[in-house]
This record gives sequence, C-alpha cells and structure tokens, in this order.
Amino acid sequence: MATAGQPVLILKEGSTRSRGSDARVNNIMAGKIVAEVLRTTLGPRGMDKMLVSSLGDITITNDGATILKEADIQHPTAKILVEVAKTQDREVGDGTKTVVVLAGELLKKAEDLLDQGIHATIVCSGYLKAREEASRVLQELAVRVDLEDLKLLKKIAMTSMSSKSVTAKDRFAEIAVEAVKQTSEKRGDRMLADIDQVQVTKKAGKGLFETQIIRGVVIDKEVAHAGMPKRIDSARIALLVSPLEIEKTEISAEIRVKSPDMMKAFLGEEEAMFKRMVDTVKKAGVNVVFCQKGIDDVVQFLLAREGILAVKQVKESDMEKLSRATGGSVVTVLDDLKPEDLGWAEFVEERRIEESKMVFVEGCKNPKSVAILVRGGLERMVDEADRALHDALSVVADVVRENRIVAGGGAVEAEVARRLKSYGAKTGGREQLAIEAYAEALERIPTILAENAGLDPIDILVSLRAAHEKPSGQWMGVNLADGKIVDMMGRDVIEPLSVKEQALRAGTEAACMILRIDDVIAAAKPSFGVPKG
Ligand code: ADP
Ligand code: MG
Repeated sequence: MATAGQPVLILKEGSTRSRGSDARVNNIMAGKIVAEVLRTTLGPRGMDKMLVSSLGDITITNDGATILKEADIQHPTAKILVEVAKTQDREVGDGTKTVVVLAGELLKKAEDLLDQGIHATIVCSGYLKAREEASRVLQELAVRVDLEDLKLLKKIAMTSMSSKSVTAKDRFAEIAVEAVKQTSEKRGDRMLADIDQVQVTKKAGKGLFETQIIRGVVIDKEVAHAGMPKRIDSARIALLVSPLEIEKTEISAEIRVKSPDMMKAFLGEEEAMFKRMVDTVKKAGVNVVFCQKGIDDVVQFLLAREGILAVKQVKESDMEKLSRATGGSVVTVLDDLKPEDLGWAEFVEERRIEESKMVFVEGCKNPKSVAILVRGGLERMVDEADRALHDALSVVADVVRENRIVAGGGAVEAEVARRLKSYGAKTGGREQLAIEAYAEALERIPTILAENAGLDPIDILVSLRAAHEKPSGQWMGVNLADGKIVDMMGRDVIEPLSVKEQALRAGTEAACMILRIDDVIAAAKPSFGVPKG
C-alpha cells in the first residue's frame, strides 16, 4: 500500500534531469559555444588556437579536429559536435571546422524558429529536406577533372592547407600529390586511394623544405650494433616478432652452481642457444633483420660478424608497414623462419638525421609503399606541418577516389543557398522557413571567411548574392585579400566535392540530433571521496 507523501525513486540519487525547452536551450547553447570556438579559425585568414593540456603541454594549431580533441570537452551535447569533427576527419580528412560551424549556425537558426513557435520536428524535417536538395545541387554543380593533371591536384592540396600557418606549402602539395599517385590504384572502374598506406614520420630539425618523400619505409631506430654494416644492397629481410635473446621467465628460478665446470656448461648452453638463433637466420639467407623485441648483445655481435644488419625494438605498426612494403611475412617463432618469408628491398641503409639515426628501406618489392619524412625547425612546427600534410594527402585522395570538385571561398555554399531559397518557396508551409534558415546558415560560411579576414560581412553578403544571380555566377566567392567577389574556380580555390557533401550531411545530422532531444537524464558522477564516519 503506497503511503501518501512518499517519494517514488526512479533515478539514482544525485541524477539530474532537464526537460523540454530547458533541455533544448542548454543543448543549443552548448553546440553554439563549440562552433563559436572554431569560428575564428575558419579559412585562410583564420587564427590559430593555443591549447594547454592539464600537464602543461602546449599545442598551437589551426586544425579543427585537433582543437576539439585537445580541448577535452565534457558537455555531452558538445561532445556530439566533437564526434562529428572526428568523423569528418576520418572520412574525408578536411572540412572539420566547416562541419562544426555549419552545425552551430543551424542550431542558432533553429533557436529563432523555435522561438517563433515552430516545432522542433518541423525544423528538423525542413533541414533534412534542405540537405537532400543541397546534395542534389552539389552533384549538379560539381565538375570532373583530369586526374593526370598533377598541377590541378596540387592546387586542391594547396587550398586544403591554406589555413595552416606553415611555410613550404608548395613542397608539401607536391609531395602529397606524388604520394597519393604512388599509392592509388585502379580496381575495376574505380580508383582506390588509401592514405593509410603513406607512412608519415616526423623529425624536428632543419627546415620544412627538407621534408622528403621516400619510396619505401622509414624506421625511427638505429642499427643495433656498431659492428654491423650500415648499408645492405639487395636486402633479404626477416621480420621477427620473437626476441633474439633469452626471455626471462615469469617465475623466478634458482640455479645452484656447485662447480666451475657446471658454470661453464651453463654459460655454454646459453651461447649455444644464441648461436642457433643466428644460424637459423643465416640459413634462411637473411642479410637484414627487423626485430620487434630485443636482441641480446651476444646475438648482436654474432650477427655483426656475419655481416647482417639488424634493428631491434621495432614498433608493431612499423613491422606491418615493412611487411606490406617488402612483401615479407612477420614471423612469430624464429624456428619457423623460411626463405619464402623474407621480404625484399633494393637497399636498407642507416642515415644520420640530425643527432639521431634512422633506417631507410627503399626500392621495396611493393612499389606502392611510400613514406614521408617531415622536417621542420621546431617540434611544434613539425606537428602542425604533419597536420597540414594530412589535409593535403586526404583531399588529393578524395578527388582520386571520387573525381569531382567544387569551388571554395564560399562560392559553393552561396550557390547552394541561392538554389535552396527557390526550392523552399516551392515547398511552402512551415518547412519553407526551415529551408530558408538552412540556406542562411550556409551563407554564413562565406561571411565568416570574410569576417576572419577583417572584411565587412554584410557588404560581402550583399555583393555575393548579387553575383550569384548573374548567369554563370555559380563560382563567385570572396577574395579575402581585398573583399572583391571573384570566380573561385579561376583563382584555383578548389575543393573535393566529397568534403562539402560530408560536411553538409554530418553537420545537418548533428544539428537535428541535438534538436530532437527534449530530455536529458544524467546519472550522478561516481564520487571517489572517502566516506565519512
Ligand atoms: P576546414 O577545417 O573546414 O577545412 P579551413 O580553415 O581549412 O577549415 O577553411 C576552409 C575554408 O576556407 C573553405 O570554405 C575554403 O573554401 C576556404 N578557402 C580556402 N582557401 C581559400 C582562399 N584562398 N580564398 C578564400 N577562401 C579559401
Ligand atoms: Mg581545411
């Protein structure tokens, strides 16, 4: 029998709940704040952010995904936008800020519509309709390119790096194009391009211009023993997971040595084991060993005597790259090593890079393996250069995979917005308002680019709209140097269609996901305090 006044507990003590418009207002606010953080970094004139981790490590970057990752965002709704940026980065490798800024603008516009009494469901369905129409328009606008035109691919790479404050973009763009060309292949009537095939290694020192592309793999380790050769031509490579030393047992054992003879026998046995290891390697016809584990000093010495180059403690990921590049299989048990497991490369060589040494494996069996060694004065600079290179590699791969481009500088967004407005008028009803709001959110991309360049956003928007009304005005965008409205295709500000498409799709989905929430139930945080009493 229920007693009056007795509370019915459904949620755990300490849980919080916000509902209806409260929940929505909070969520929209959180989304807007995240977008606001990224807004000033958008575009070639965007600023950088300095992020200080809880341990005091500093990152200076303009990279959307990195900013959000390092900022360690806690709010659950804001986290949705962080996820969206991550997905964008993973799927197409560029447009991470665009997607978040767009979602933020969509939320902002939605807030106005909600205030006017339009239900969130209507806003979302209007947004989704707008998104579909926008995709259709994008497909219509996008142009094919000649993938053999390396200059053009380079321009796409340059556009993607425009906001990163690194020098030597020209060199980076060239390297990116070469690397993607080298690793992409035709399968059926599709082109495959996988930038995971490109190994990027960083090393501070020298300048960014010293960044080089290597046809093979670079291992950030030195040759194990000073007596080993530093270069082997026509390398027959063993890739070993098992250690070339005697592993310490888990359980501690004790051996009582009672006589010098026994001691000798014991040591002799150890040496014999080492000899057997080296014999196995030699018998397989190996002249280069990459070992994922350690190599005993004695084994190193014996290998050196045989003229074998060996590298120890190689990272697992590098072992996989070596395997793919040289065609060798990674062997777990040394005794199983057979000649057919060996990989091949034209040469393996240790080179001195600043104070450290690195091992280069070049001219591999698999011509598709390429490595890029990023150089740069400061470590922070190398990190940002690495992120710029990632963007460049991604966009070139995007275009190789899906051969379609659009013009940037706000051109494509302005054109899609213009067409969406007439589509909205045809749709009518309350959804029309949402579709128009969507168009206006898209127009924020060119105006934010302008704002970040210190230009007047309203002037720009007015002239941009006028330019797009004219015939063949579809690629008119903002020249950020002087605020003039110019043809962006002609200015070589070009981007992959897939980056824009993904940004629109993911940005809309995120905004709608946030808008549809009308109840936030948060469980109490576990407390790790010492209980009193
Ligand atoms: P994202 O993380 O979204 O890629 P960026 O900071 O790289 O953000 O900025 C991308 C935007 O900058 C795109 O809209 C692109 O068209 C624009 N942009 C790039 N280069 C230029 C340029 N030279 N002039 C005008 N806009 C440019
Ligand atoms: Mg970019």
